[in-house]
Amino acid sequence: MIYADNAATTKMSGAAINAMNACMQDTWGNPSSLYGLGQRAKEALEDARRRIAACIAASPKEITFTSGGSEADNQAIRSAALLGAQKGKRHIISTAFEHHAVLHTLKRLEGEGFEVDLLPVGPLGTVTANQVAEAIREDTVLVTIMYANNEIGSILPVSEIGAVCREQGVLFHTDAVQAAGHLPIDVKAQNIDLLSLSAHKVHGPKGIGVLYARQGVPLTNLIAGGAQERGKRAGTENVPAIVGMAAALEESCSHMAENAAKVSALRDKLISGLSQIPHSALNGDPTNRLPGNVSFCFEGVEGESLLLLLDDQGICASSGSACTSGSLDPSHVLLAIGRPHEVAHGSLRLSLCEENSEDDINAILKAVPEIVAYLRNMSPLWKDKVGGKLTFVL
Ligand SMILES: *Cc1c(COP(=O)(O)O)cnc(C)c1O
Repeated sequence: MIYADNAATTKMSGAAINAMNACMQDTWGNPSSLYGLGQRAKEALEDARRRIAACIAASPKEITFTSGGSEADNQAIRSAALLGAQKGKRHIISTAFEHHAVLHTLKRLEGEGFEVDLLPVGPLGTVTANQVAEAIREDTVLVTIMYANNEIGSILPVSEIGAVCREQGVLFHTDAVQAAGHLPIDVKAQNIDLLSLSAHKVHGPKGIGVLYARQGVPLTNLIAGGAQERGKRAGTENVPAIVGMAAALEESCSHMAENAAKVSALRDKLISGLSQIPHSALNGDPTNRLPGNVSFCFEGVEGESLLLLLDDQGICASSGSACTSGSLDPSHVLLAIGRPHEVAHGSLRLSLCEENSEDDINAILKAVPEIVAYLRNMSPLWKDKVGGKLTFVL
């Protein structure tokens, strides 16, 4: 099997599995319990918090554990919105190609009287700090813009955006789920007030994530109950998952440069090979992109068919459209960068990690062109294009 869907989830690292096993066997107490077993779990929890904080240059008390990236996004945005509402500020700035955890939270807030501006991201899938500066108003409370896009891999200028927000006194949240472990994160130097992470995108376990909130930015809790996480997130802490996350994140961050060099070389080989396919287009910025991200549109092909035929050859990949929802809507990300509906349906995302090999790339480069040609051959629409009755888009 060739796994090339690391933006969807990653295989857990040995370090994460070992840390979790040890925790489940030996440190399984409730961290709120006062006897030794509970206190040892509490120590494991706080040790993980310190190590995760160190990975992003935060202090441990600025780290709140959540059930994942989605919850962290919800909580960050809701916390800022509540602060804004208390001051009569109800304007939020974001982009058109955020993750649905952000976009759907913003949609709900619109129903609650907030005004949301989604900045256009242009053909390369980015926004400038200048665009953000121009969109900020007297009543803006929050700017929420992702660090790197999960579908097309483009990297956004978060340091510049953070500087603009800090200068204007506006809170800045960034969804750094795809950036973590691949790009340096320094919440202090980058003027980030709120930041979301997820363990399962960096070789950690699923169902655990982090919300960083700068000291002085009060969080509102989405889950009411006990006093865990300083009252900001009720529920007995998932200590094994938290410990697994710390091990995975630490490992990814400590090998960031060497992994990025290896993975981006594989990425570039894949991009240049797939670019040879006629009537295809790379999505996102050709150079300023995540080390592992390869995203293409192939005209005259259904993304889902392409995925199923790749699966037959043992290759795991993803398409921008449908995603997990089973819906036939094309990806909002591809539409946001200006791909027409028809072309957006023919998308393929291959997301690599340091475990992928040169052989994997060669196998993908053999399979994809064959499958694309096969699917085009079966398409009446394609025949009309080749025959000149319809025009090509790409
Ligand atoms: C995966 C992902 C999320 C959601 O994280 P979960 O831990 O799966 O809830 C949020 N944002 C981005 C950019 C992601 O890639």
